[in-house]
Amino acid sequence: MISKKGESKAMYIVENITMQEFKKYLGETKTIVFPFGTIEEHGKHLPLNTDAFIIQEALKQAAGKRKFFLAPIVYYGVCTTTKDHPGTISISPETLRRLSFDLVTEAYRKGLRNFMLVSGHGGSLHMSALKETAEVLVENLKGIRIAVLSPYDVLWKELSEIAETPHDSHAGELETSIMLYLAPQLVRGRSPEEYPKIPKPFTVKNKVKYWPGGVWGNPNKATAGKGKKAVELITDKIIELLDRIEKQK
Ligand SMILES: [Zn+2]
Repeated sequence: MISKKGESKAMYIVENITMQEFKKYLGETKTIVFPFGTIEEHGKHLPLNTDAFIIQEALKQAAGKRKFFLAPIVYYGVCTTTKDHPGTISISPETLRRLSFDLVTEAYRKGLRNFMLVSGHGGSLHMSALKETAEVLVENLKGIRIAVLSPYDVLWKELSEIAETPHDSHAGELETSIMLYLAPQLVRGRSPEEYPKIPKPFTVKNKVKYWPGGVWGNPNKATAGKGKKAVELITDKIIELLDRIEKQK
């Protein structure tokens, strides 16, 4: 449940609290964070839930420092380039839009007003589905504040400075480093350096043919130290945004 590195009082972890506790904590905060992950190939060396795992750990660390409701993660997300690889189980943008719309609307009905949709997966269709939902919600629900983000979006520059590999991305140096720091027992050796060879701007079938190993970057440059820096950056950013969403007028 709560990792050693993500020590938390677990007070506001939605899946663990009672009806009475929910009511009581609502007097203390109107902010809820919905995490989003994927079940997606991450090369031969990282587990399918890498995106979900990383964002949950960062959020648990933030939950030790700020009061907010932390919702259970949505494990499934929209995967495009990896969708044909073994293990990836993707949903459509339509499903993600509908699901995130329902989750926020229902939480609003229960009294929550500040919403952060935080994704461990930075895929463009995945993020645009969440952002489209936020556009509709902000028109529909009176008095809400809503932010949609992925660390690879808001911290793109800072995170790419940690990695030595230029254009490092999916299952590459950075994600491998973070997993080495958070859960080295889940890292099975290293996949070789690789980059997708999809003939852009074409959309192609059988994506595995153009990207057999499913790695984008160089996992061999990964270290737990780089992972620690990345997790600290992500956690600090989440805390900064929590403070801003609570103060925003
Ligand atoms: Zn990932």
